[in-house]
Amino acid sequence: MTAIFFLFGLIFGSFFNVVGLRVPDRSLFSEERSYCPNCHKKLQWYELIPVLSWLFLRGRCSGCKAAISPMYPLMELFSGGFFAFSFWYHGWSLPLIYALLLGSLTHILIVSDIKYMVLPTPIILFFLALFAVYFLFDYPEPLWSPLVGGLLGAGMTALVILISKGGMGGGDMKLFGLLGFVMGVKALLLTFFLSAFFGAIVGGGLLVTKVISRKQPIPFGPFILISACITHFSGTMIIDWYLGSF
Ligand SMILES: [Zn+2]
Repeated sequence: MTAIFFLFGLIFGSFFNVVGLRVPDRSLFSEERSYCPNCHKKLQWYELIPVLSWLFLRGRCSGCKAAISPMYPLMELFSGGFFAFSFWYHGWSLPLIYALLLGSLTHILIVSDIKYMVLPTPIILFFLALFAVYFLFDYPEPLWSPLVGGLLGAGMTALVILISKGGMGGGDMKLFGLLGFVMGVKALLLTFFLSAFFGAIVGGGLLVTKVISRKQPIPFGPFILISACITHFSGTMIIDWYLGSF
């Protein structure tokens, strides 16, 4: 069953790539087949198989030979792994659905943020609605937690934006608002802390190795989302460890 979840994760992941790529670009979800963004060659069925097609094409479009970013097969593997791990971790239960929603959100927004430096509002609102429906079946505890978490998430980010003058953007604020709503106050605070920590390490590392310059902005969304996923699966453990170390 875990293997089947892995396969489903790959297939959904390939769809999430398309969503993350097309929503910020305002391309419509017409019936139009997937195409190469460079030469607009329509892709054949054998060019649409998750991960394998990229390997088979050696990372290039079969029409114009433009390089296809390894981000796409890597993100498909991420969703495959995430779906499989979620099933292994939660089994058949409501929290499995919660985890799959969180993983899907993570995949779509990472693609948008890396490609365009944008966390699209329609995606954030769509997942806000999905999680609100989820909460009808699995009440958050305490009941006020989503509201307070959402306000705190957006408020804390707004404060950082004001103080740092552009360290984070409006998209980050909406995302932290959503995550506060979805995860509650405690998990939100851990996610906030972890994302700052990972962002500082990776950002600092890229600066020191001169991969990026000081003026070059790096998308912060991936750090937030990966931190949210880590918090979901091991947040209680990390908080216990932290409180226990005093
Ligand atoms: Zn092409």
